[in-house]
Amino acid sequence: MRLTQKSFRGIIFDLDDTLITSPLNFPRLKAEIGAPEHSYVLEHIASQPEERQAGLMAIVERHELYAAHQAILLPGVQTTLGALQSKNIPMAILTRNRRQTTDIIMQRLSIPISLVLTREDCAPKPAPDGLLHISKRWKIPAEELVFVGDHAIDMQAAANAGMPSCLVAARDDGGLPTGLRIKQLDELLVWFDGY
Ligand SMILES: [Mg+2]
Repeated sequence: MRLTQKSFRGIIFDLDDTLITSPLNFPRLKAEIGAPEHSYVLEHIASQPEERQAGLMAIVERHELYAAHQAILLPGVQTTLGALQSKNIPMAILTRNRRQTTDIIMQRLSIPISLVLTREDCAPKPAPDGLLHISKRWKIPAEELVFVGDHAIDMQAAANAGMPSCLVAARDDGGLPTGLRIKQLDELLVWFDGY
């Protein structure tokens, strides 16, 4: 699908599998913490007895830390972020990852985005809190921004915030209802042609 030019005034990205890829192995991680296959990791831990939560979280953090040191940028990301930066388009990241591992990824890969919200900063997606916080901070209405992510939880967070969303997915596996869809990040540059 060829994207037509939009009038977005800023862009918010998910991190994992949107800007970067890493060997974060969710099936193995879920097996280790006893989470059902289709559950969400953070929500599963929150549902466990309080005395078990710290131990389970430590397992998650070990996986995240390993993955952060192996992460690489996805195709088209460097070009896209560079082009948006040179046009002074406001950019931010909203991730369910934690601050320490996110900082490692940002520094290792020189990602030129300074406004980054992690799971310590706000209620995790699909809650709209992070997206609304960024909208308020930029003083740009949610409907004039776009949230780009690779997962249903990203699309849901955007919907909850009243923000347009775009799914980035290398494979066309259908299933996820969304308005905009791209295979690789640099396809979205057409939205900002007029800047
Ligand atoms: Mg993701």
